[in-house]
Amino acid sequence: MHSRLIDDLLKIMGEKGVLFTPEDLAIYGYDGTFVEAQPDIVVVPETTEQVSHIVKLAAETHTPIVPRGMGSGLAAASVPYPKGGIVLCLTRMNHILEIDQENATVKAEAGVVTADLQAAVEKLGLFYPPDPSSIRHSTIGGNVACNAGGPRCLKYGVTGDYVLGLTVVLADGRVLKTGGKPIKDVTGYDLNGLFTGSEGTLGIVTEVLLRLITKPRYAKTAWAEFSSLGGASRTVTAILAAGIVPASLELMDQTAVRCVEEAMHLGLNTGVEASLIIETDGADEPTVIREINACVKICQGSGAYSVKLAQSEAERNALWKARRSMSPSLARKAPNKLGEDITVPRSAIPEVVQRLRMISNKYGLPLVIFGHAGDGNLHPNILFDKRQPEQWAKVEQMVGDIFDASLSLGGTLSGEHGVGLLKRPYLERALGPVSIDVQRAIKHALDPLNILNPGKMFPE
Ligand SMILES: Cc1cc2nc3c(=O)[nH]c(=O)nc-3n(C[C@H](O)[C@H](O)[C@H](O)COP(=O)(O)OP(=O)(O)OC[C@H]3O[C@@H](n4cnc5c(N)ncnc54)[C@H](O)[C@@H]3O)c2cc1C
Repeated sequence: MHSRLIDDLLKIMGEKGVLFTPEDLAIYGYDGTFVEAQPDIVVVPETTEQVSHIVKLAAETHTPIVPRGMGSGLAAASVPYPKGGIVLCLTRMNHILEIDQENATVKAEAGVVTADLQAAVEKLGLFYPPDPSSIRHSTIGGNVACNAGGPRCLKYGVTGDYVLGLTVVLADGRVLKTGGKPIKDVTGYDLNGLFTGSEGTLGIVTEVLLRLITKPRYAKTAWAEFSSLGGASRTVTAILAAGIVPASLELMDQTAVRCVEEAMHLGLNTGVEASLIIETDGADEPTVIREINACVKICQGSGAYSVKLAQSEAERNALWKARRSMSPSLARKAPNKLGEDITVPRSAIPEVVQRLRMISNKYGLPLVIFGHAGDGNLHPNILFDKRQPEQWAKVEQMVGDIFDASLSLGGTLSGEHGVGLLKRPYLERALGPVSIDVQRAIKHALDPLNILNPGKMFPE
């Protein structure tokens, strides 16, 4: 790294905003996966203007720059591999700038923790629905960059459905403002859509303007247990086919339930083959109750041997605690886990679940299945030990088979975690050469020097 660049960064940021001790570099070199790579330097800006200055310096010296929120990503997209460079961490840009109750919008800096943003708007009776399970340890900017989803997205949509406007620092340091408060806006290309989900490869988001809705007043939650994974997955399609759109419809297979119980001691029945968490919500209590009762009936008619309806807020929270503890509980089970994020058309859920089981049997490694089944978005997690070369070789083959299963059923590689480094080798298989050409052309037009999060998304 040019020593002049370090001096210039110190001039812009002051000592507080530039980190380069070995300990600091180690901390900013990983995310929620097992991939690690050290940055050359970390900057922690506090204003859009500082971000713009930093990017201009990076452009002058052709230095890679990797935007980072809280590093909770599951695609190794914020890991500064393969080129090191500057990690630009937005967590000090953590102010909520405006909550406009009349227009139901919130404007926030990119580094605001998503749960903090939700709590702030809920105090005023408003609601920001997207709810990644990492809500307490991810930023709203990171959510926009990955177009994050979550259990509630079945009814309410994903992060991108709430983005009204963005402030983005481009690869040459210019500051772009997109969108605004109008709900309808077809003036020019949809730049909000372009930057949402672009994983820091097209620009650095410093501020977001989000649409809000009124907080649903009532919610009812059920936990249904099945003696077969197929029965649970067929129930998902049966509920949706009946015209009910629950807020959430989440699936956990037997291994998933057992892992959570071992870690959390919540009193879950570990004998079940699969469980569904179903939640209905809305402004009208009788409708919410009618819908959850209809779901319960469908579960019973589809072979559920037990359906529990939460009778209090405490019971409801306990059911969700089981689901939210999923990923951390798996981490205790094996030295490594690789969580995939395939999405298939809803009607293909029973078939894909069966194929995932066959893949696990074929390679002899545990594959835990859970996820947002109502969206067709499943997280098959492979448990393994990366120190064993033969296990790692199997994992690589399993990932290929998982993606083949999804693609052959009309599905895709990722519903919410993004491509990053890990899915990069499979992108062309999923999208085809023409789409890759178009996307590369967009990248080149916006970042001709390839300094923004290089090596992510596209095979080089
Ligand atoms: C236990 C656990 C549960 C999870 N559950 C979910 C879930 O339910 N749904 C879901 O969608 N995801 C989930 N995730 C994945 C992850 O939390 C999300 O992808 C989240 O959006 C990442 O936010 P972050 O702030 O941590 O971003 P990071 O991990 O720091 O970065 C992720 C990507 O965004 C880019 N980026 C970050 N901030 C900016 C910015 N301001 N401007 C431009 N680019 C930026 C980075 O360069 C990188 O490409 C989970 C992760 C964990 C560990």
